[in-house]
Amino acid sequence: MNSIADPVLQATLKNVFGFPSFRANQAEIVRAIMAGDDVFAVMPTGGGKSLCYQLPSLLLDGVCLVVSPLISLMKDQVDHALAVGIRAGFLNSSLPVSERREVERRFRNGDYDLLYLAPERLKTESFMAMLRQAPISFVAVDEAHCLSEWGHDFRPDYLSLSVLKDVLPQVTIAAFTATATSQVGEDIVKRLQLQEPFQVRASFDRPNLIYKVLPKDNVLSQIGREVRRHPGEAGIVYRLSRKDVEKTALSLQEMGIQSLPYHAGLSGGERHQNQEAFNRDGVQVIVATVAFGMGIDKSNVRYVIHGDLPKNIDGYYQETGRAGRDGEPAHCLLLYSRSDMVRLGNFITQLEERREQDAGWQKLGQMADFAERHSCRRRQLLAYFEEEYGPDNCGACDVCLQGVEEVDATTEAQMVLSAIYRTGARFGAGHIIDIVVGAKTKRIRELGHIKLKTHGVGRHHPKPYWRRLVDALLVSGSLKAVGDKFPILEIASQGEAILYGKESFSFSQLIGLPGEAAVRSAPSGDKGYDQGLFAVLQEIRRGLAERDKVPPYVVFSDRSLREMCQYFPETAEEMPAIHGVGMVKLERYGAPFLREIGQWLADHPDIKKQEMPACAPPPNRGKKAKKPGKTMLESGALARQGFSVGEIAKQRGIKEVTVAGHLEAFLEQGNGLDLALLVSPEKQELLRQAYGEHGFEYLNPVVEALAGQVGYDEARIMRGFLRSLNSE
Ligand code: ADP
Ligand code: MG
Repeated sequence: MNSIADPVLQATLKNVFGFPSFRANQAEIVRAIMAGDDVFAVMPTGGGKSLCYQLPSLLLDGVCLVVSPLISLMKDQVDHALAVGIRAGFLNSSLPVSERREVERRFRNGDYDLLYLAPERLKTESFMAMLRQAPISFVAVDEAHCLSEWGHDFRPDYLSLSVLKDVLPQVTIAAFTATATSQVGEDIVKRLQLQEPFQVRASFDRPNLIYKVLPKDNVLSQIGREVRRHPGEAGIVYRLSRKDVEKTALSLQEMGIQSLPYHAGLSGGERHQNQEAFNRDGVQVIVATVAFGMGIDKSNVRYVIHGDLPKNIDGYYQETGRAGRDGEPAHCLLLYSRSDMVRLGNFITQLEERREQDAGWQKLGQMADFAERHSCRRRQLLAYFEEEYGPDNCGACDVCLQGVEEVDATTEAQMVLSAIYRTGARFGAGHIIDIVVGAKTKRIRELGHIKLKTHGVGRHHPKPYWRRLVDALLVSGSLKAVGDKFPILEIASQGEAILYGKESFSFSQLIGLPGEAAVRSAPSGDKGYDQGLFAVLQEIRRGLAERDKVPPYVVFSDRSLREMCQYFPETAEEMPAIHGVGMVKLERYGAPFLREIGQWLADHPDIKKQEMPACAPPPNRGKKAKKPGKTMLESGALARQGFSVGEIAKQRGIKEVTVAGHLEAFLEQGNGLDLALLVSPEKQELLRQAYGEHGFEYLNPVVEALAGQVGYDEARIMRGFLRSLNSE
């Protein structure tokens, strides 16, 4: 039906959206839609589902209908689409009748590429009648899990979608969700009556998220410290109770950090206002209960802090998933104390049905395991979603970054056990630890516990160490926590064996603990871009966003700004090399940014511009061809004379990786080179196979698959060559 070739997709991706390459699965889904196949795609939050329907909506005749339950997000989504030049609109109950009429008129007229719809629209006869006559290209169903009663967010309104195929038997339907067990998936396919759909189940790994867990000690100051590590960056802090939300927001405000609360106890108006302030970069931190999140699409959330243990891993994954949608590194900190289990347990015991209670306990147990077990956090999360994680070390969680060692702690365990024993097993963990570290609290003095032999025997370790040790003793069954609200510690028989020296005790510790210093990942000092200019551009962005009444990230993403502060583009020709800068955005917003960058360079003559990334321009044949970069041609010319990558880099005083990028682009544009001089024929063959298997999108999987047999530069150069063949 539509035999649009890949180069057109590539060119649209670059020229409209400003992205150099597709993310995993996007190209395949777009192709399927273009070919008229139904699609069912499960991709994680931030996986880039919108682009999968927005891009074909531009290339296919007619209007693409997007069904979405999130009315509060529709306007932002439409603004986003408009900003890149897609003719988009929306229809939902928030529109006054007169505006609705106007949108419907335009829809019938075929004036839209994309029309967002709330599901209940499809229930009205008049609208269905209109559908039969309107020129529809295809239907995208976003958040498709809302169709299934098995899903966590079932919406009865979504059931009206099941008649779509009856009313429009020929229409292509593409369904998207970020959460679907196989049961929910089957439900969706059945209810929408998808015909042999093209199915995608993407990995749930979020490689740009950095996970860490710290023992909860003084939660407010720990949260404050983490927030301070991210000056000027947006973050979400989750707390369990409304009271703690209020307390935390206040404590951050007292530290001089702009923060607002969000919970179900606030009026709808207040909630909306606070969410908008956060969404529009008006406030840095939002402190919230789990009620916050569904209606947020902000892409530049740089960190999520959990001040309390979430109820289950599903929730934790969703909530941390709101960080780093833009693909840039983002931090997820969980502050964990076993006593949170007790508070959460209270919720569970209030559940009516026994079955729900059992499920609740099981899920809570899995969540606590995640926090307690010193095995790669990423592997644990993915295992929960029945996905195996390949690499031994993910390189982006506390466990993998620090390493773990099994440490003998028999003496320390005896100190704790003895404190419990000597006080008659009548106290909770907090008091017992206070005794061991030698605290002189009012309670300790009043009870005379200052005179105990164990008072202060453990002052060589800080409190978080003892908390972890007590947790480990509980997990091993050496201790029992008895009682609900304020559980007391009792010694189990295994604990007695340790106390009397019959058995030893060891537990795994992150190397570097105690003390938090070692747990800190990359310091946020030198970020490799000009932060002064970044602040200036942020202001410009805020101004433009206010003028156009859109969220700032709709103007340009953080990543776009950051690259501007790294490469300092000075002309409209240089600008599209920046990530996220497409033609329409360049025209609409480019000038003020270029002006500011020019001014900044004039004011700071000592700035050395980094070379622009070798952005392989899309093979946009037919349209005006882009002038190839001069510097790329120079590298190409030297390679033709037989110089190696290393020699070219040396001669030109640039990095090898830059040269490899030049040669990749050079080859991709169809320029001839004696490839065998750069990549040996054996390696060419290996790479050809690996790219056949993994696709061109990322270098990493290909280089990794060939385990040390080829280098990145070779892989890059070969990719350019292979791509040039593909686009013939
Ligand atoms: P999802 O709906 O799957 O959660 P979105 O569609 O909101 O994700 O996309 C998340 C972010 O990723 C957005 O900021 C979007 O602009 C960006 N994005 C999507 N596709 C690409 C791509 N191919 N390259 C770079 N960024 C992309
Ligand atoms: Mg989405």
